[in-house]
Amino acid sequence: MAIERTLSIIKPDATRRNITGKIIDRLETAGLRVVAQKRVQLTQAQAEGFYAVHRERPFFNDLVSFMVSGPVVVQVLEGEDAVAKNREVMGATNPENADAGTIRRDFAESIEANSVHGSDSAENAANEIAYFFSECEIVG
Ligand code: UDP
Repeated sequence: MAIERTLSIIKPDATRRNITGKIIDRLETAGLRVVAQKRVQLTQAQAEGFYAVHRERPFFNDLVSFMVSGPVVVQVLEGEDAVAKNREVMGATNPENADAGTIRRDFAESIEANSVHGSDSAENAANEIAYFFSECEIVG
């Protein structure tokens, strides 16, 4: 298995409830290493750009409003098979469908306010990481 990097976002529902540490603990316990991290307030334009692939979806406007409703913690995670491993630890998009022991099952409030984002492919991970971080901000 290759060492990969993936982009993670701890979403506003989680920063609001002050549970970023609990979520990071799940990631680290799974063998993922936080090699870059910053807490930011996304602008409308940043959130729209990040989720541009979903522009035509019915949930797009609500999703963007949610993502700018409070601070987020944006992270680069590194580890073996990091993209798939992070998706596994996150659980399904809808917390009702997420496996027991996953972040979304244990912490998400709804299908929208589902606590975390994780890149869904290595290619998207590279683009999403570059969207938020320059190479010199990532320290493995
Ligand atoms: N989302 C939503 N309603 C839906 C589907 C998705 O509000 O019916 C939100 C949710 O926050 C999700 C994000 O849009 O995490 C991106 O959706 P995607 O299908 O890419 O899910 P993910 O990859 O985050 O599991």
